[in-house]
Amino acid sequence: MKLLFIGPPGAGKGTQAGLVARRLGIPHVSTGEMFRHHVSAGTELGRKVEAILEGGGYVPDDIAVAMLEQRLAEPDAKAGYILDGFPRTGPQVEALDDLIGKDGLDRVVLFDVDEDALAERLLARGRGDDTEETIRNRFKIYQDQTSPLIEIYDERGLVVRVDGLGDVDEVSDRVLEAVK
Ligand code: ADP
Repeated sequence: MKLLFIGPPGAGKGTQAGLVARRLGIPHVSTGEMFRHHVSAGTELGRKVEAILEGGGYVPDDIAVAMLEQRLAEPDAKAGYILDGFPRTGPQVEALDDLIGKDGLDRVVLFDVDEDALAERLLARGRGDDTEETIRNRFKIYQDQTSPLIEIYDERGLVVRVDGLGDVDEVSDRVLEAVK
């Protein structure tokens, strides 16, 4: 099963992607996590993207695409995966289409969360890129660049909406129900 999880920052999609991937026995592919790894390991790529991550902006498409391409070429991704945080832009949708075909995804899970709850969650999480200013910036970038992708996948009939608020396990159950 090939799934894409999409939603605003703080919607809990990363947590759910991890849990649901484990329950389905497929890898959780998080480009954000991959970038953070590079930063903490101090790789060349990490040094290149560090300031971008800190400011809440998006890494250039060519870098994100190359990294995802490499990840999906690994053997454990053959049977399926949950994409979390990719694609995030129009060009990334095209790159994914080229890679797995326009009918490559089985479902796109959209996390619906009340906006006020989002900022609160992010501040509580306390990750390095979770300051009030970068949160505001990441919301705006999400609205401008990523939320338009929902329409593209809606037209393909792939989008299922899941309420991301509530007990973590309950939300996982909702997601599993929505994709089966
Ligand atoms: P969140 O779910 O809170 O938005 P992520 O872990 O998905 O956080 O991503 C963290 C950061 O990594 C983003 O703010 C962005 O800078 C970078 N990033 C992750 N995936 C991509 C992508 N596909 N394209 C560009 N930048 C990305």
